[in-house]
Amino acid sequence: MNTAYVALGANLGKPLDQLNQAITLVNKLSDTTVVAAASIYQSVAIGPGEQPDYLNSAAQIVTELNPSELLAALHAIEDALGRVRTVHWGERTLDLDLLLYENYISTAPILTVPHPRMNGRNFVIYPLLEIAPTLVLPNGESIKTVAQKLVNKGIQRKNSFNPQRMQWIN
Ligand code: ATP
Ligand code: CA
Ligand code: CA
Repeated sequence: MNTAYVALGANLGKPLDQLNQAITLVNKLSDTTVVAAASIYQSVAIGPGEQPDYLNSAAQIVTELNPSELLAALHAIEDALGRVRTVHWGERTLDLDLLLYENYISTAPILTVPHPRMNGRNFVIYPLLEIAPTLVLPNGESIKTVAQKLVNKGIQRKNSFNPQRMQWIN
């Protein structure tokens, strides 16, 4: 079994509902189990134009899928929940990013792991820190060090995760 971390984000439609549906679908992927999920964090959108705030979280999974199978499965969940791909960094009903997969490193544009922009994003690192406080990234840097470099701004912790129900509490 391989441990991987997935970032979840949504800022269109009913973001909390989409995140709850998404975590259920991730847990139902073949040979994949959600081990933990962080609280939801509400964050001000980055990217073009005026956009609604995001709800973001992160999940720890164990999986027998390889990294490309896992990313394809995550894209299928985005599609199932109605994501319409328009502009890069545009608003979306659901965004699932593969952050980390064991100590695997890939620089291929279609599958870059660790996720190339994760370290600069408080809405990715804060939830990750919550579920994996002792995590060390493949480059040897600890998640704590990465978190300390970030500015705690434009982000608020919201809903807690109920692991028994596999849902965030409204
Ligand atoms: P960002 O990657 O900055 O968070 P985004 O999530 O809005 O931006 P998308 O439009 O969802 O970007 O994805 C663009 C492409 O990134 C996808 O086609 C996908 O193949 C590729 N990609 C590469 N590495 C990853 C990864 N680790 N997780 C998710 N997508 C990835
Ligand atoms: Ca993203
Ligand atoms: Ca994405």
